[in-house]
Amino acid sequence: MLSIYFFLLGMTLGSFYNVIGLRLPKRISFTRNRSFCPHCRNQLEWHELIPVFSFLLQKGSCRHCNKRISILYPLMEILSGSAFLLFYIAIDSHIKLLPALLLYTLFHILIVSDLMYQVIPNTVLLFFFSIFFLFRLIYPLDPWWHSAAGALIGLVGTAAIIICSRGGMGGGDMKLLGLIGFILGPSLLLVAFLTAVLTAFILSVFLLAFAKKNLKSKIPFAPFLSIGGMTAFMYGEALIQWYLLYFLS
Ligand SMILES: [Zn+2]
Repeated sequence: MLSIYFFLLGMTLGSFYNVIGLRLPKRISFTRNRSFCPHCRNQLEWHELIPVFSFLLQKGSCRHCNKRISILYPLMEILSGSAFLLFYIAIDSHIKLLPALLLYTLFHILIVSDLMYQVIPNTVLLFFFSIFFLFRLIYPLDPWWHSAAGALIGLVGTAAIIICSRGGMGGGDMKLLGLIGFILGPSLLLVAFLTAVLTAFILSVFLLAFAKKNLKSKIPFAPFLSIGGMTAFMYGEALIQWYLLYFLS
């Protein structure tokens, strides 16, 4: 029963994260203005704002102007619900639940911003850095300086990649990897980065083979870093153990 509650809570919050990710880069207040259709600017009624269900009821288009609503909204709401459900099932300590929820919130907002506008907003990174800085003061990594080391490796490592690849990644990716390094430390940062590269590679091969994309098509990298970061947070330790056991023994 509680699992359904977590799923619904995740969907509802996911709907709010969508709004933040959509409005913050455009500097529209997400607390004062009510939600509106981006095409006809009509304010939306409460029954048009129910996560996923409104989208299905309205068959994916605006009730006023009939323009299509992006499939990104319901997909991200389902992702959010599923993530909250996973946390509820897989995490047994409160000390791990809080950073899981915070990390997910950060990633959700960044995925929306990066997919919609190709930006990783500094305000979001700074806001979450302050929260995680406080969190790491209370619950430091072991040893504590792994946060600083992780942040440094994330920043410098990505800077090196940007210089060598002449813009394969952006400044936003660099700051995000620095933040992931600060939260998770160097070894889990590596897991996050490798998972991101691997999933991006698999999707690129898929897109090259089945969709009309070429090597010059730019793919936003924040969604992959988010998948990597979340995987590293949830299963990074286990993945490292598994790797050491099977490949280095
Ligand atoms: Zn409309």
